[in-house]
Amino acid sequence: MMAEDTKFIGTPKKATTHVNQNEGLIFEKSSPGKKAYRLAELDVPAIDAASLLGASARADLGVMPEVSEIEIIRHFTRLSTWNYAIDLGMYPLGSCTMKYNPRVNEAVAALDGIANAHPYQPESLSQGCLGIMKLLQDCLIEITGMDAITLQPAAGAHGEFTGILLVRAYHEGRGNARKKILVPDSAHGTNPASAAVCGYQVANLKSNAQGMVDISELERMVDEDTAALMLTNPSTIGVFESDIHRIAEILHARGALLYMDGANMNALVGKARPGDFGVDVMHLNLHKTFSTPHGGGGPGSGPVACKKILEPFLPMPVVITRADGSLGLDYNHPHSVGRVRAFYGNFGMFVRALAYILANGPDGLRQTTEDAVLNANYIRAKLSGTFDLPFTTPTLHEVVFSDRLQAANGVKTGDIAKRLIDYGFHPYTVSFPMIVHGAMMIEPTESESREELDLLIDALQQIAREAAENPELVKSAPHTTRLRRLDETAAARKPVLRWKPPVTD
Ligand SMILES: *Cc1c(COP(=O)(O)O)cnc(C)c1O
Repeated sequence: MMAEDTKFIGTPKKATTHVNQNEGLIFEKSSPGKKAYRLAELDVPAIDAASLLGASARADLGVMPEVSEIEIIRHFTRLSTWNYAIDLGMYPLGSCTMKYNPRVNEAVAALDGIANAHPYQPESLSQGCLGIMKLLQDCLIEITGMDAITLQPAAGAHGEFTGILLVRAYHEGRGNARKKILVPDSAHGTNPASAAVCGYQVANLKSNAQGMVDISELERMVDEDTAALMLTNPSTIGVFESDIHRIAEILHARGALLYMDGANMNALVGKARPGDFGVDVMHLNLHKTFSTPHGGGGPGSGPVACKKILEPFLPMPVVITRADGSLGLDYNHPHSVGRVRAFYGNFGMFVRALAYILANGPDGLRQTTEDAVLNANYIRAKLSGTFDLPFTTPTLHEVVFSDRLQAANGVKTGDIAKRLIDYGFHPYTVSFPMIVHGAMMIEPTESESREELDLLIDALQQIAREAAENPELVKSAPHTTRLRRLDETAAARKPVLRWKPPVTD
């Protein structure tokens, strides 16, 4: 229940998202005959749709809004201000690595020969584009310490699927696909899902008190039916698996492989290479570690890197250097798992990731890692005490608190996250990882300045005070947004994805 007298009493130091009350919908603005364009007089004979398209021409075009140019411009511009974006402020969404997308990446990706390249262009005219792919592959192989790579998968989860297909093909090649994949209880939900989609049973591996793999539990569980362990390193609570060599040894001794979920590579680039610590196959999220946009900002990219033993199974085609020194696409891979994506993957993202890698250089990438870890540890140091820290193991690029202290007053992680919106920030990650009850997972990335981190820390400290003094204020947040608290379950279960004209009689 929301108390009657709750008012927004916080004093945000940041401007909150712009709220425009003039929010009539474009269909309500519509009136017959208005147009947002004017076409030149026809100078060819008119032809109607039916004679062009025959029976497939639609007689009923449905209801379309009729508005003027300024109305349509204002409509879309207004909609754009209802969103939060990394270009507006910090996005401390743990596990998602919401770093800034440098504009120089966009400038490079927009170059004519790159943006307008066609996937069916002949190899001889595509040497530049193939060169971009080859150089990116070489950089990622160097960064991960692996032997071979495919750039095809379109996201992290798609990379997991591809990687586990390689694992399966490898075991099948040795006469037995094996039955199960081990997944720690701290894993991202996509890990067990990917294993299951590839036809494996998922066995849940318990974490120890430090939030790491329990070695004796692992030894007990790995058997002749185990195809692989899917491990996130650093783990989802931001902790490096200090026994990673031992973990790899235990698996390899029983013929099983080590898959690494590389979504957290922002903590390792330039510092440690999975190929050197026993990983057989892994994916990278270019849209996390290598600064290409996420989701609505652009398609993702989840390259999969592997050791020599898995190379024959990589998706085709692969970029190769031909005898005459030119680059080409090789489709002749008899043991390949096939294609996982149309054409070659999300090429525009390769360009952006390579621009980021080359702009930073080896020392810059290492600095990026150090800054990401420093920022997370700064937040950890400043907020420990204000919020409960369930794992005190040293953390790398992200930190997981819990709502335990505030929950005593009825204020949960979701409430604190909603209240953070009033202070002008995107919420942190709520209730994940599952091994932490009431998790508040914060990942600042290296993009943020000390000043921005201080604003976030200040906001969270203020919210903790509010939780103690006026819990209703936090529990009924957000107060400054266009819409108040939404029914998130209904939004997920019964999404309304398409506008339908109101029924009039
Ligand atoms: C983001 C993430 C994934 C999934 O990546 P998508 O690109 O969103 O499919 C998998 N594992 C971890 C640990 C992640 O953080």
